[in-house]
Amino acid sequence: MAPDGAGNLSRLLDREDVPPLFEQNATGRSPFLFTCDHYGRLIPKKLGDLGLPADELTRHIAWDIGIAGVAEKLSNQLDARLIAQRYSRLVIDCNRPLTAAGSIPRLSEATMIPGNEALSREAAEIRRREIFDPYHQRIKEIIDQRLHEGKPTVLVALHSFTPVYAGVKRPWHIGTLYHRDATLPPLLLKALRAESDLVVGNNEPYAVSDETDYTIPVHGEARGLINTGIEIRQDLIGDRDGESQWAERLARILGEIEIALRAERKI
Ligand SMILES: [Zn+2]
Repeated sequence: MAPDGAGNLSRLLDREDVPPLFEQNATGRSPFLFTCDHYGRLIPKKLGDLGLPADELTRHIAWDIGIAGVAEKLSNQLDARLIAQRYSRLVIDCNRPLTAAGSIPRLSEATMIPGNEALSREAAEIRRREIFDPYHQRIKEIIDQRLHEGKPTVLVALHSFTPVYAGVKRPWHIGTLYHRDATLPPLLLKALRAESDLVVGNNEPYAVSDETDYTIPVHGEARGLINTGIEIRQDLIGDRDGESQWAERLARILGEIEIALRAERKI
């Protein structure tokens, strides 16, 4: 089905589409607040398939493979709040500033996205208004509420990365992503490096920047929250066993980090 890239859509999501937000453990007692910008790969019905074959829409360009299962399990194990976004990053990338070229990508890895070609300003605006804005507004509200209640809040943005990008293999099993926070990333790196079976990326395969990222700069750094991103390699969490193992490992590590942060009165 051809996408309606030309705009003239007064609304994007209709009754057949699910809401963009997925939330879990709203009353969770953990200081960790998990976000998952690339949780889902849904496409609003009105956009068809964005002009892509089905096999492109299940690849890493559409979402963070495996991270949904890890995020849900981890949030349950730690009794931590999770907020996630169900629509594909190919519709609008919830971890890109709206001014970034990758916000509504015309090219992802080597795949052209026909449904994002020659998009009208109005059509782009509707994606922002119905998907990007509600997700980020909700994260803001949750943080506002927690700060108001004096609840300690540590923001962790959960992602996964493809094992091979543009023909280049990535050796890391897991990476931390950070920019300005000097509290959590060193603790997390130390804990991950103590796991003898892991190759750990320090700001690999990506680092956070104001130009390429949204969730950590806006909800973490600008609000003075302790924060980090975590990237897990997708082939390790491609099935339920992998998801469970990584959720359990991260729950153990983050549980230890919570104790350290409390002992240092950082939270
Ligand atoms: Zn991601």
